[in-house]
Amino acid sequence: MTPRPTARATPQRACLCALVLFIAAAPPSAAEWVTSVTDGIMGTRITVELWADDAASAQAPIDAVLAEMRHVDESMSTYKPTSELSQVNAHAADGPMHISKELFDLLTTALEYSRLTDGAFDITYASVGYLYDFRKRVRPDQAAIDKALAAVNYEHVLLDAAAQTVAFSRKGVRIDLGGIAKGHAVDGGIDVLKSMGVTHAFVSAGGDSRIIGDRFGKPWVVGIRDPRKGPDAVLLRVPLVDAAISTSGDYERFFDEGGVRYHHIIDPHTGHSASKVRSATVIAPTATRTDGLSKTAFVLGPKRALAIYERLGDVDAVIVAPDGEVLYSKGMRPAGGETQSTP
Ligand code: ADP
Ligand code: MG
Repeated sequence: MTPRPTARATPQRACLCALVLFIAAAPPSAAEWVTSVTDGIMGTRITVELWADDAASAQAPIDAVLAEMRHVDESMSTYKPTSELSQVNAHAADGPMHISKELFDLLTTALEYSRLTDGAFDITYASVGYLYDFRKRVRPDQAAIDKALAAVNYEHVLLDAAAQTVAFSRKGVRIDLGGIAKGHAVDGGIDVLKSMGVTHAFVSAGGDSRIIGDRFGKPWVVGIRDPRKGPDAVLLRVPLVDAAISTSGDYERFFDEGGVRYHHIIDPHTGHSASKVRSATVIAPTATRTDGLSKTAFVLGPKRALAIYERLGDVDAVIVAPDGEVLYSKGMRPAGGETQSTP
């Protein structure tokens, strides 16, 4: 059975119940939906879909979104030695470094999410995370993990708002924004579209998406993948208006060895892959928030993660536990049930 839960995302509360309030407005006849799919920016697929007078007039806003994505990639990728983030990793242990306002603000948000999630989200995971290469099936042994682990702690990242600087409190600290930069880039793309007057659009970077408006009286519908089936197998569909959604899964970048799945979400407390769930989908007003919070359940497990999400008030979630059980936050629960098992 495909559940049809209510998705909400305050403050706009994009929800199924709001559907009854929509007057089925017919779209203006001389315009159309235009979709653009681009691979290779931030190592992922960028999709932009928007309502425009015609394909030609959609090109400028689409190009502006892609430019925004490339800018985030250039400044925040750890794969690019010239990026601002790579410079921080190279020098911040030597003392405070002045950084751009954009990077400073995102680091501030990242540390806020570390505090909200009891340290489950931690950009210093990279101090041990860099020892893994999931494509090449490389993983560190326990001795290497033990050695690197002391540098994993978000409290090692020292921000000074007045001076707009970052410093690391010790050598060996590395930060990586792979768990939040795509959401930030999606939000940047959405801001660009809004500034250009676009009122109905969808922007995604890999598993991080955000929506402006509705689809003329209907919600946008975003599918959540079944974590143990192929990429096209949909576990459930979530109707959304003016909201963001991110899914993290242990099937994205992984290898299996000796019955253990080694994958790209790392428990900052142990340095091992965090396997307390198979996938976690988070819905909230912005993609920075959904991206940053979708790793929590892997580290803390479904119950603790749901407690945190529900406490935040503007966050909903759908979590697939290791045994296939599907758990919902309060705002998403199908009538009469708390959980549902996959077939
Ligand atoms: P995607 O990269 O497809 O958007 P996720 O949103 O699930 O996938 O983010 C996974 C990425 O988050 C990892 O590749 C890594 O860069 C980063 N990451 C891994 N563990 C943590 C953690 N504990 N805290 C913060 N970021 C993490
Ligand atoms: Mg993500």
